[in-house]
Amino acid sequence: MKAVIAGAGIAGLVAARQLGLAGWDVELLEKSVGPRPEGYMMDFFGPGVAAAERIGLYSRLAAAAYRVGSVDYVDAAGRTTSRLDYDQFARFAGGKLLSLLRPDIEQAALAALDDVPSGWVKIRYGAAVSSVRSTDDGACVSVAGPPEATVEADLLIGADGIHSDVRAQVFGPESEYLRPLAMRAAAFIVTEPALNALFRNRFILTDTIDRMAGLYSLRSNEVAAFLVYRAASEASGRRGNQSPRERLRREFTGLGPTTDRLLALCPEYPYDDVVAQIVMPGWQKGRTVLLGDACGAVSLLAGQGGSLAIAGAALLADILAPVTSGEEIIPALAEFERRWRPVVEEAQAAGRRAASTFLPANRAQRLLRRWIIRATHLPGIERLVARRIVGRTLR
Ligand SMILES: Cc1cc2nc3c(=O)[nH]c(=O)nc-3n(C[C@H](O)[C@H](O)[C@H](O)COP(=O)(O)OP(=O)(O)OC[C@H]3O[C@@H](n4cnc5c(N)ncnc54)[C@H](O)[C@@H]3O)c2cc1C
Repeated sequence: MKAVIAGAGIAGLVAARQLGLAGWDVELLEKSVGPRPEGYMMDFFGPGVAAAERIGLYSRLAAAAYRVGSVDYVDAAGRTTSRLDYDQFARFAGGKLLSLLRPDIEQAALAALDDVPSGWVKIRYGAAVSSVRSTDDGACVSVAGPPEATVEADLLIGADGIHSDVRAQVFGPESEYLRPLAMRAAAFIVTEPALNALFRNRFILTDTIDRMAGLYSLRSNEVAAFLVYRAASEASGRRGNQSPRERLRREFTGLGPTTDRLLALCPEYPYDDVVAQIVMPGWQKGRTVLLGDACGAVSLLAGQGGSLAIAGAALLADILAPVTSGEEIIPALAEFERRWRPVVEEAQAAGRRAASTFLPANRAQRLLRRWIIRATHLPGIERLVARRIVGRTLR
């Protein structure tokens, strides 16, 4: 059986590996010219933990993880206004919690492709899927290249992210499925020894209204910056010709010297995207199925994008592994959606619940967040904190 996968993000890489291990012939097409370095620190917990353990990816992830001691909210002068202990945070998340840079998760999944016998998974960078023809008998995709190409397969998996081209081609325009959460998020990494030394092992977040800057010290004198800001009228993920760096500088001036320093070092084109969810009535059409953010983005508010990408991809591959004929594919895809949709929907609901605590819109919401964080030592309040602060799904 042959699968073509659009997108070598976390979901696409894990699906490719697992299908390859199951004996499928896999062609993985990625539009960027190599693995992408963008992205900030992500919490890894929830369904992805068990899935990563089961497929043998967890130890690679744990090896790349950072040790976070606490999450500190600070005022403009750098004084801590509230602090969340990370070990307690880990308990909220069900015990196992890794802090990982998004590109490190992607690298771990890429390295794990070595476990597949040579030639079973072919990965092509700089290969954007430009058009798709999908029927009940198979799928045919055109690759923009260069070189241009056409790939035919028994199955097409659209793992091409929140702005999925496969979804647009097969299911309809993004505007039908994208649910903006009235925020944008940006991320970039800078080399800055002084800041790096100042905040080691602490996740620093500004305790501010309608915008929040965060930073975490990485290995080798680097600092990962993370900026979230209100974008109430945001309807689409992609903005016109505004420079993202200029927009960030305008949005974040006045938050104190640390943020000013980060903004001074911000690259011209940081990762900068709408905070949104993807909500669809169905994830499969003919021999095409969507996976990961393409069909069920939960947003950073749910804190589980990477975890769900791994768990969803592993489940899809498990269900497809025994398939030996084209006729079995469509029922297998239906089974995948039946089993996976409730998990995604629960995480999406948790993400939406967390919105006001994550980015307060006024002083009252900010006070409430401070109160909740300070109350974390009270017995019995842990589930409330988990739901309000991080919108997490506890299992
Ligand atoms: C550059 C980048 C930075 C990110 N940073 C963060 C972050 O800091 N925090 C966070 O919570 N989430 C971040 N995300 C989202 C996070 O990675 C996902 O929520 C999660 O990992 C689910 O991944 P996914 O594989 O479904 O989608 P994605 O990680 O979005 O991967 C989709 C892949 O498909 C590729 N692609 C898109 N269109 C095509 C096409 N037509 N043909 C071929 N390939 C295509 C993209 O280049 C990308 O590599 C980021 C995503 C990207 C791409």
